[in-house]
Amino acid sequence: MRILISGAAGFLGSHLCDRLLKEGHSVIGMDNFITGNPENLAHLANNQNFSFIRHDVANFIFVPGKVDAVMHFASPASPNPASPYGYTNLPIQTMKAGALGTHNTLGVARANDARYLLASTSEIYGDPLEHPQKETYWGHADPIGVRSVYDEAKRFAEAMTMAYHRAHGLNTHIVRIFNTYGPRMRLDDGRVVPNFIQQALRGEPLTIFGDGSQTRSFCYVSDLIEGIYRLLLSEEHSPVNIGNPQETSILEFARMINRIIQNPADVVFRPAKRLGDDPQRRQPDITRAKTILKWEPKFSLEEGIRATIPYFRQKLELD
Ligand code: NAD
Ligand code: UDP
Repeated sequence: MRILISGAAGFLGSHLCDRLLKEGHSVIGMDNFITGNPENLAHLANNQNFSFIRHDVANFIFVPGKVDAVMHFASPASPNPASPYGYTNLPIQTMKAGALGTHNTLGVARANDARYLLASTSEIYGDPLEHPQKETYWGHADPIGVRSVYDEAKRFAEAMTMAYHRAHGLNTHIVRIFNTYGPRMRLDDGRVVPNFIQQALRGEPLTIFGDGSQTRSFCYVSDLIEGIYRLLLSEEHSPVNIGNPQETSILEFARMINRIIQNPADVVFRPAKRLGDDPQRRQPDITRAKTILKWEPKFSLEEGIRATIPYFRQKLELD
């Protein structure tokens, strides 16, 4: 297939490019570098099957030639207001990537009668009242809270994708991605994995927002990409959760990273309220992914963190 990937220079987009090229597909990457990094694609510069278009997906998209699949990953993704790359500092760009960007990428798919896959998120469940979260749960999200620029854009994006499926019969897929980590995450995007790993490598205390009792369930990037690839090739049109159900409190997670990196500096607690409605519990129910896609994650949290540390170690030495 000839596949368009928006957000190709980002953490997940660049891993997706690698995987699709490895499977023998031809890939057109698209990105405006608002939170991404050209370095993530530098190794593909001489790959005959890869091309790149620098473009903001909020504007009309023109791709020369036939496209067989469109995968929409372009969007800021970090909630941390302390980072310039956090979506609360890019509120209008985030809404435009999720709303106009989804409409434009769907338009490319429709014009080509191509498969379409939307990168949605566990954030559409908001601060969930149901645990673990199943795809049937409608969510508990504040439509005007600080996170709403991301959550509501993604909820709109899902609705728009289903509208194209229902109105035009487009072959669409929606993946609800739960917290994913691995090499190529930005050091400075403020998400918990890069923050904790680099703090531990520097011998600093790990910053816990709130009391650390909030939970997350972290998935290693190669596991996520495998699930997404299977979904792209499937005939499933309703949303599918992809994530690792191994749930941990943020405090336990910090202690685990300090143990692995042998950081004696422990943790410090910071006020939680800066982040807005920080979800208190998050864990995917992956029954649908297991049944429909025959997929489940292979990496335990500790294995994935051990596989991620060398990237950050190398980055910190280079910086
Ligand atoms: P990222 O910030 O590393 O990548 C996003 C990429 O999109 C960046 O390269 C950025 O420059 C690009 N982009 C943003 N707006 C754009 C626009 N208007 N036009 C063109 N390019 C644009 O983030 P990521 O973690 O790789 O996330 C990728 C996608 O996956 C996002 O849609 C995000 O919502 C979704 N997601 C990620 C996670 C996760 O844990 N990593 C969880 C849930 C959902
Ligand atoms: N967090 C933290 N310290 C940090 C960064 C994040 O305690 O330095 C917490 C944050 O409050 C949240 C969790 O870690 O409860 C995950 O945050 P992240 O920004 O990675 O993503 P989210 O899952 O909130 O979108």
